[in-house]
Amino acid sequence: MGAEALLAAVAAEVRGCTRCPLHLGRLHAVAGEGNPLSDVLLVGEGPGAREDATGRPFVGPAGQLLDELLQTIGWARADVFIANVVKCRPPANRDPEPPEISACAPFLDRQEAALDPVVIVTLGRHSLHRYLPDARIGVVHGRLRRAGSRFVFPMYHPAAALHQSSLRDTLFNDIRGLPAALLNAREAIEAGWAEPLSAAGVAPAQPAPAAEVDEAEQMTLF
Ligand code: URA
Repeated sequence: MGAEALLAAVAAEVRGCTRCPLHLGRLHAVAGEGNPLSDVLLVGEGPGAREDATGRPFVGPAGQLLDELLQTIGWARADVFIANVVKCRPPANRDPEPPEISACAPFLDRQEAALDPVVIVTLGRHSLHRYLPDARIGVVHGRLRRAGSRFVFPMYHPAAALHQSSLRDTLFNDIRGLPAALLNAREAIEAGWAEPLSAAGVAPAQPAPAAEVDEAEQMTLF
């Protein structure tokens, strides 16, 4: 089965999912959408009110900012695939809880496997911690990181900039680095660095936690 069919199968299951209590309050589950052939997967946190009403990811105020961010680098939604850590809206937009994240994780696992993205852009803390559990967003944002066999480009959640305007510039600065990060990740994969860092022989056998890898070390990797 190709990526498009695999993603459609996941979406159909998501729409009928009753794995956690979040399904009880939903109007629509939000499986995700975008280009099934994209090298870039954006992972947000979970649907808000407008996403719940429409069944589409990032169509509310945070989504408008996300569209602007993509436009800054000449990209559109159709160039990427957008998904979330949880597919049903948490009540009153509260944070998703660990059992909800765990119950929903197999869907994102399968979306990730179907897309096999070169770079995963994490939007916000919950998404970041799926890949880099100990990382702090204030330290890792806007820089390409390794997470097992994946390349991750952490960003603040666009909604954070709606509440804290100083983060707006940070988001725009960070996204300007994404095209280069994508190229770097592609080159690294082509050079055979798709295995965990220690196996690739370019980092210590016990690399420092990602949040503590310093700029100089990053430069030697990419
Ligand atoms: N915030 C998210 O994290 N995801 C959405 O789909 C919308 C808002």
